Amino acid sequence: MTATVPRIGFVSLGCPKASVDSEQIITQLRVEGYDIVPDFDGADMVIINTCGFIDSAVEESLGAIDEALQENGRVIVTGCLGARAELINARFPQLLAVTGPQAKEDVMRAVHRHLPAPHDPFLDLVPKQGVRLTPRHYAYLKISEGCNHRCSFCIIPSLRGDLVSRPIDEVMDEAQLLVDAGVREILVISQDTSAYGVDCKYQTRFWQGQPLRTRFLDLTRALGKLGVWIRLHYVYPYPHVDDVIPLMADGAILPYLDIPFQHASKKILKAMKRPGNRDRVLERISSWREVCPELVIRSTFIVGFPGETDADFDELLDFLEIAQLDRVGCFTYSAVDGAAANALFNHVPEAIKQERYHRFMLKQQAISAARLQQRIGQQVTVLIESRSKQGYSGRCYADAPEIDGLVHVCSETRLPLGEFCRVKITGADEYDLYATPSR
Ligand code: SF4
Repeated sequence: MTATVPRIGFVSLGCPKASVDSEQIITQLRVEGYDIVPDFDGADMVIINTCGFIDSAVEESLGAIDEALQENGRVIVTGCLGARAELINARFPQLLAVTGPQAKEDVMRAVHRHLPAPHDPFLDLVPKQGVRLTPRHYAYLKISEGCNHRCSFCIIPSLRGDLVSRPIDEVMDEAQLLVDAGVREILVISQDTSAYGVDCKYQTRFWQGQPLRTRFLDLTRALGKLGVWIRLHYVYPYPHVDDVIPLMADGAILPYLDIPFQHASKKILKAMKRPGNRDRVLERISSWREVCPELVIRSTFIVGFPGETDADFDELLDFLEIAQLDRVGCFTYSAVDGAAANALFNHVPEAIKQERYHRFMLKQQAISAARLQQRIGQQVTVLIESRSKQGYSGRCYADAPEIDGLVHVCSETRLPLGEFCRVKITGADEYDLYATPSR
C-alpha cells in the first residue's frame, strides 16, 4: 500500500563513483519529497544501483535484484550492470525499468512513472550539500565522468563514454558546501583524475570572483586552500602529476597518491594498452620522494593477465621490491564481458594466477609491514572515526577509508569522533598502526 509520503528502498553497490551516482539520485528523491527507507518490505519501490566491473560484482548485483523482487516486487535497476539491459531483462522480465550508469534523469523518469512524487514544498528538507552515504566527516568529490583511455581489460569507457569534466566552479562550489557542512576530508575521484579538463581544453571559469582553469593542478591548488584534508584517487601516471608533489610537500594537500600502475612488464603493459616504462616510473617515484619524503603511494596491480610469463611476473615482483610502495591491492585477471583483452592469446591457467597472487601478496605484505615499522615513534594527525573496547580507531594521511589500514589509538581520555587528534605511533603490524595521544 502506498503511504502519504512515497517510500523508496535504495541499494548502492560498487565503487565510490557509483556511490556518488547514488547520492545524486537519493538527493533528487529527497528534494522531491520521497522518503528513503532501509528495508524492502516497508518500501513502495526499490532502486538498485548495480556494479558490473568483475564477475563477483555482477553476481552480487543480480543477487540484490533477486532479493528485492522477492521481498518487494517493484524494482528499478540502474548503474554499470544496467548498461547490459538485455541480460537483466532476460533474467528478470518483471523489473519496472533498467537504466545504465549516470542516468539520474532516466531513473527519476521511471520513478515518476511508477510512483508519482508528492506535491508538498514543505517536504524539501534536503541539506544544501545533498544526501551523502559516507559518514559526516568525509566525502567523495567526483570531478569528471568517463575515460579517454582504452585499457584492454576495462569496459568502463564503453559503459560511461569518453572523459567529461565538470566545470571547476561547480566542483569548487560542491567542495565548499561539503566543508561548510563539517566535512574534514575530501576524496577526489573520477576515472582519470589527472586528465581533468583535457576534454574542455582547460577552460577558464570564475569561482568567487577569481579565474580558475579547469585543470588538475589548478583544481588541486584551489582545493588545498579549503583547510581540510584533500586526497587524490585514480591518478594516471602522466608527467604533469609531478606538479602536485610540491603542494603535498607544503601541506596544502595530503601527501598521498593513488596510482593504479596495473603491471610493470613493458610487454604486459602494452597488451593492457597502458603506457609503460618501468625505469621512468621508478625514476619519477624516487624524484617525488626527494621533493616530498613523506609521500605515501597506493597502487593496484593485475596478475595473470593473458600472455604473462614467469619472466613478466618476476619483473613485476622486482618492481615492487625497488618501488617500495606503501599500500598495494592486487587482483587476478578475470575476463569481463565485452573487454578487448578477452581476445588475447595465452590466457594464464587459474592455478598459476592464484599462485602468482599469493607470491605477490606475500612480497608486498613484507614491504608494507617494513614501511609501517619505520613510522614507529613518529607524531601524526589522525581523523578519529570510531570507538571500540580497546579505544579509538582512525586514519592518518596515509590511509584512505575502506581500502587502507587504520590507526588504533589507546586513550583514557575521550576523543571526539570525526575530529582530528595528534598521536604518537607506538606499534605496527602488516596493515595497521597503534598509537597513543601526543602529550
Ligand atoms: S584508465 Fe583504463 S582502467 Fe581506468 S577507467 Fe580508463 S580504461 Fe578503465
